[in-house]
Amino acid sequence: MAEQEDFETIVGKAPEVDENDPQNLISAGVVGAGTMGQGIAQLMASSGIDVILVEKDEESLSHSMNELAEMMDREIARWGMTASEKRAVLTRIQGTTDMIKLQDIHLIIESVTEDIALKQDLFRRVDQICDSDAILVSNTSTLSLSEIASVTSHPDRVIGMHFMNPVSKTKIVEVIRGLHTSEETFTYIKGFAERINKVAIEVYEYPGYVTTRVIIPMLNEAMYVLMEGVSTAEHIDTAMKLGFNLNFGPLEFADMMGLDEVMRWMETLFHELGDLKYRPCPLLRKMVRAGHLGKKTGEGFFKYNRDGKKIID
Ligand code: NAD
Repeated sequence: MAEQEDFETIVGKAPEVDENDPQNLISAGVVGAGTMGQGIAQLMASSGIDVILVEKDEESLSHSMNELAEMMDREIARWGMTASEKRAVLTRIQGTTDMIKLQDIHLIIESVTEDIALKQDLFRRVDQICDSDAILVSNTSTLSLSEIASVTSHPDRVIGMHFMNPVSKTKIVEVIRGLHTSEETFTYIKGFAERINKVAIEVYEYPGYVTTRVIIPMLNEAMYVLMEGVSTAEHIDTAMKLGFNLNFGPLEFADMMGLDEVMRWMETLFHELGDLKYRPCPLLRKMVRAGHLGKKTGEGFFKYNRDGKKIID
């Protein structure tokens, strides 16, 4: 104690760090290292935040860490990133299968498979492990935040951040208030979005929010058009891309998102809103059952090489 006082007399008192300012955030957790979790971890690491990235088992973790490194190699090949930036990002990301490593972390972003029981189970565990003032975020596209938050002891500190794919390239994130989300939590997350260079779109809890709800009928309709033999996958995508000035056609876009995820979103929207426009196209179901999940498995509506590039027949 005396030593501490001597030290403070000489160098002055260390300034208090305001934990409620997202600019002071030095480390964060991401649970689920799939397509989105990898992107979110990379984004935070490149914004100077140390990341603890949690996967369900060692095999999935090592697969995800390899994918993340390969994704950055592709960026380097496109001159979108340097080798030293890649090293800096990777040194900031600590992969683990041990949730207990999240115990002192103030901000945790969950990005596991779109399944309410799985997400609730994780929120229950994270809630027990972390401090009572930790902020728990879900990247869910369609599930109810209030339902997810209901298993925690602090639903006021649960909020949604719906990132878009690919995370590093899209400019927006939807920030979603659950029924009990507090104003403090909302303000913190808006500041955090700014820190990681995203424009925050404020939305209230509702199935599919803005982006998923609006894009899904277009993807589904393109699948019906293909199934009904109106045109080929290539022509459908070219028509929509060139006709409406889009970066990707709807079928390639669905492949990028992951067909299993897209099907889950449709099922939730169909179940919640009861509207036939969200009923998953039978062709989509067939492809998911066959394990053709899009880019992540190398085959969906199109085929992809190891670099994730579409193979033109
Ligand atoms: P994904 O299938 O690529 O990844 C999910 C990951 O979660 C897998 O790596 C899986 O091993 C891991 N996981 C499962 N159970 C776990 C557990 N108990 N502990 C730790 N990790 C576990 O899915 P994704 O596309 O990354 O989607 C994840 C979330 O992001 C979903 O809620 C989805 O709706 C949302 N989302 C996806 C997109 C998209 O375009 N794919 C866009 C916005 C939001």
